[in-house]
Amino acid sequence: MRAVALKGKREFELKEIEEPVIDNEKVVIKILKAGICGSDLHYFEMGEPVGLVMGHEFCGEVINPGNRTDLKVGDRVTALPISPCGNCPACLSGNPQYCKSTLDPCCRTFFR
Ligand SMILES: [Zn+2]
Ligand SMILES: [Zn+2]
Repeated sequence: MRAVALKGKREFELKEIEEPVIDNEKVVIKILKAGICGSDLHYFEMGEPVGLVMGHEFCGEVINPGNRTDLKVGDRVTALPISPCGNCPACLSGNPQYCKSTLDPCCRTFFR
């Protein structure tokens, strides 16, 4: 699928990226709208991480709910695009965005 990715300082490129792989633990969402936030502006100015597809603040429609029983195809959703552990001090204090275990590559870069 096509995506706009960060190429360098203040530079984007249109490229092909892999379709999301269904593993039943994740929900696949068709993005309908995405915003630009302060984090995106910092990445844009720094030019890294190269390859980052921005737009982590979004809304969309579920196209595959995986094993989630509370969602169905067509539901309109948004999401916190990180995978916090739920057990570390950051998670337990209500700040999962600071979790060191997050699987989101942009957040790992942001907090390194
Ligand atoms: Zn943001
Ligand atoms: Zn955590």
